Amino acid sequence: MTDILLPTKVNLSYRGILPVGDSHCVSGCGAVESAQHVFLSCSTFGSLWSLVSSWVGSASVTALTLSDHFIQFTTSAGGTRAHRSFMQLVWLACVWVVWTERNCRLVQRLSKFFTSYAGQDQDFFL
Ligand SMILES: [Zn+2]
Repeated sequence: MTDILLPTKVNLSYRGILPVGDSHCVSGCGAVESAQHVFLSCSTFGSLWSLVSSWVGSASVTALTLSDHFIQFTTSAGGTRAHRSFMQLVWLACVWVVWTERNCRLVQRLSKFFTSYAGQDQDFFL
């Protein structure tokens, strides 16, 4: 998984879909939204990993890239194949939860924007 494949705000800005100044993380943390940021370093979304590591009873993961994080996380609970498979499932579930929450927050913001825009437009014609 790389930043190039995900429609993060950085990528959407890079492709001209979003204005350049509209690439901040939907959590409101103030950082630019890249995949590395959303899944690993965001103060809101990234805090999930330490909670999950604590829940599973594995060592905290310090990797800074998604691919390194996946490898370190999936091997942090032991070296057996069953442990790695379980941790891979947990990692994928966490990424899915973060991405789903990120998308929900983005849709809520867009919905508010379009609602207020439609209201302004209606006032203009009255
Ligand atoms: Zn953030």
